[in-house]
Amino acid sequence: MLGFELSEEQNALVQTARQFTKDRIIPIAAECDQHSKFPKDVYEQAWELGLVGSVIPEAYGGAGLNELDNVLVVEELAYGCTGIQTSITATTLAAMPVILSENEAAKKKYLGMLTKKPIFASYAITEPGAGSDAAGLQTRVRKDGNDYVLNGQKCFITNASMADWYVVFATTNPELRHRGIMAFVVDRDTPGLSIGKKEDKMGQRASDTATVILEDVRVPAENLLAGEGDGFKLAMMTFDRTRPDIGAGACGIMRRSLEESIRYALERKTFGTAIANHQAVQFMIAEMGIKYEATRLLVHKAAWQIDHGSRNSMIASYSKAFGADAAMAVATDAVQVFGGNGYMKEYPVEKLMRDAKVLQIYEGTSQVQRMVIAKNLFAMYK
Ligand SMILES: Cc1cc2nc3c(=O)[nH]c(=O)nc-3n(C[C@H](O)[C@H](O)[C@H](O)COP(=O)(O)OP(=O)(O)OC[C@H]3O[C@@H](n4cnc5c(N)ncnc54)[C@H](O)[C@@H]3O)c2cc1C
Repeated sequence: MLGFELSEEQNALVQTARQFTKDRIIPIAAECDQHSKFPKDVYEQAWELGLVGSVIPEAYGGAGLNELDNVLVVEELAYGCTGIQTSITATTLAAMPVILSENEAAKKKYLGMLTKKPIFASYAITEPGAGSDAAGLQTRVRKDGNDYVLNGQKCFITNASMADWYVVFATTNPELRHRGIMAFVVDRDTPGLSIGKKEDKMGQRASDTATVILEDVRVPAENLLAGEGDGFKLAMMTFDRTRPDIGAGACGIMRRSLEESIRYALERKTFGTAIANHQAVQFMIAEMGIKYEATRLLVHKAAWQIDHGSRNSMIASYSKAFGADAAMAVATDAVQVFGGNGYMKEYPVEKLMRDAKVLQIYEGTSQVQRMVIAKNLFAMYK
């Protein structure tokens, strides 16, 4: 059976997230962007409403929402500000490898921390020398008695300055590439862990992005999420689950771009008529509608596959790659519809354009998504 109707509960969830975005995110988004400031009080209120880490299973104190519910919420939050939404979603990104791991004690402890209080968590795989080539990471891990000792540096980590714990990927030997990678949960207050440079970004400026430095950080064996070789698999399984969230963020940017553009096009007059009457403007707006709707279908299908336990690397990458590229094009056209005003900070669309760009970069660039897709397609048709 194929259906596009949302359940009563899902409609209620969307309404809650939409109202929250309208009341709490939209009024402060421009200021947070300008000052590169994350509004912790908004995060706390989102947490109170169950909009943070909502996919955490009930067994660990979470709401146990499914992925379709989650992408519906992400789209609503992203409509208001993808900077604020990214920080909220990054906590889910950090929770996911814990959820997917087999370490029951770590699940109870670390997922429990997220469901008890509105704290932050981070997912840390990227390094100065290893982003797209994640298997080339250099952060080292060595066993010492019952502990593991980590040394290295993680960069561009969302929520890094605010997190209470991190999922850190490290290798026993860089030459082993993916076969050497392990995964751990590391507490913020572990001696040797410090936060480095906070990034000054082009867009999504409300979200916190910083470096995590690990100097002889001693992690107990009970914090091991995945052993040698399994760490890389866990990192990739996580992305299969979370990439549709980026597509959902793209939907939020596109719906906002579309609505702002329609409103402006109906008001702004040139050559004696509203610009909405010029076919060239109509076509830009029509494209926005097409791209938004097509992305939404991909995102919902990707989420549906997750909820039904299907293999979903490829569709997750479709939704992320298509959504990110579409959002960039749509937000750029929104600036075009606004003309000179679109370039000014007085109007909301220049922020949408700056915010959209990183969707093509984080959680695997648009090129990396195409590598994943091509690999899967060749395997399918071999
Ligand atoms: C705002 C922000 C937040 C982030 N948050 C996090 C986070 O929370 N946790 C985390 O771990 N990381 C995070 N990242 C890091 C992000 O995932 C990486 O920046 C991204 O994966 C790209 O890696 P890179 O920057 O090293 O680029 P590179 O890997 O150096 O890529 C540079 C360019 O080369 C292209 N390229 C590279 N290899 C290939 C290839 N084989 N074929 C074709 N093209 C290729 C890329 O597509 C890109 O265009 C964040 C980044 C940003 C900007």
